Amino acid sequence: MKKTEICLYCGIGYVPKRRGVQKFCSNSCRSLNWKSKQQNKEVKSMVLQGKTIKPLAQNESKPEDKISVAGIGNAAIGASLVEIGKEVLTSPQNKAATKGDIQDLKTFLRSRYLKVHNLRKDPHGKTPYYDVKTGNLVYL
Ligand SMILES: [Zn+2]
Repeated sequence: MKKTEICLYCGIGYVPKRRGVQKFCSNSCRSLNWKSKQQNKEVKSMVLQGKTIKPLAQNESKPEDKISVAGIGNAAIGASLVEIGKEVLTSPQNKAATKGDIQDLKTFLRSRYLKVHNLRKDPHGKTPYYDVKTGNLVYL
């Protein structure tokens, strides 16, 4: 009895001609899958380039300003905010976000993030903070 496999690209069931090595129903699905992988790579690297914050102190001569912030992307900041939101808002006493909960969230954010005074705001006007929990420098 021949076993049916699921094509990794189109999801259609097919009977493989060679067992074990074939992952797609046809050559066209195999090459389309490869092409879409290549495209994803390009998109990802473009996103990373666009979102990476360049060091603010590039033209600054003062040594205390030469903290590199390259690599701290907006994506990372977004993820940590989601994490904080979950921590605060999913605790048992907070079933729905009320005004009190939002106040709690603000207090929590203030205790976690300490404003960094020797760095300027990023090009988007966001303020640099030191994240006590992760030890990272973030712009919020
Ligand atoms: Zn297919």
